[in-house]
Amino acid sequence: MKYALVTGGSRGIGRAVCLKLAEAGWQVIINYRSGRDAAEETLRLVREAGGDGELLPFDVADADAIEAALADWETQHPDDYIAVLVNNAGIRRDNLMVFMQNADWHNVMDTTLNGFFYTTRRLLKNMITHRSGRIVNMASLSGLKGMPGQTNYSAAKAALIGATKALAAEVAPRGVTVNAVAPGFISTDMTAELPEAELKKMVPMRRFGRPEEVAALVAFLVSPDAAYITGQAISINGGLY
Ligand code: NAP
Repeated sequence: MKYALVTGGSRGIGRAVCLKLAEAGWQVIINYRSGRDAAEETLRLVREAGGDGELLPFDVADADAIEAALADWETQHPDDYIAVLVNNAGIRRDNLMVFMQNADWHNVMDTTLNGFFYTTRRLLKNMITHRSGRIVNMASLSGLKGMPGQTNYSAAKAALIGATKALAAEVAPRGVTVNAVAPGFISTDMTAELPEAELKKMVPMRRFGRPEEVAALVAFLVSPDAAYITGQAISINGGLY
């Protein structure tokens, strides 16, 4: 069995990634924090498409919860390891910095950056031992360009890109690749409240992207064809910079 863990796999881009990886033959481990119904729907869609998987809820910002969930998974799968990790869970808490509350700063950092650190560190050892692993981190155009109203989110995503490059160099000799994907505007719950009609005028392709388009890029990065790509932050943004 080949196992891939997708954090925040219950909705949006994460759900599309689960479906695409299942299509490619991966057993998908669908992580979420609180939306069980949505996660079950993802699993139903995975099975409907001929794949299989399981749910593994935990809060990526909680190192103890990650340890408990993954130790339990390993007990139930003594002969297996998780060879693909997609660090996709993310939130945004936008505000102008002058009005930004401490909690909005820390919650975004905790989810995106600390979540990456805790989950990746936990799974890395097995990837290194097996000399095979793929890690894809869901960054953002905000982490490359910096977006007003998103100092917290832009900082977290920029840090994630820095961590991607550093870790890629650390583990490249061990057969593990680490890349980031930097989407522009993608139609999901996260962007549902944004003024799409206005914003899409800024996008050279004049539309928001679809979660499936991001998922196709992730699936490529974990495929054998991408074996020589590591330490990259690959944009998928309809030409918007
Ligand atoms: P979304 O529709 O809001 O879904 C977010 C997912 O993350 C849900 O499955 C959610 O699960 C999970 N999640 C949030 N906090 C979590 C935590 N602490 N622990 C575990 N799971 C958690 O978001 P999306 O648009 O698909 O975004 C996915 C990723 O792409 C994020 O990292 C986001 O920053 C990035 N991104 C999105 C866009 C865009 O335009 N949509 C652009 C660039 C980058 P629960 O419902 O259970 O909380």
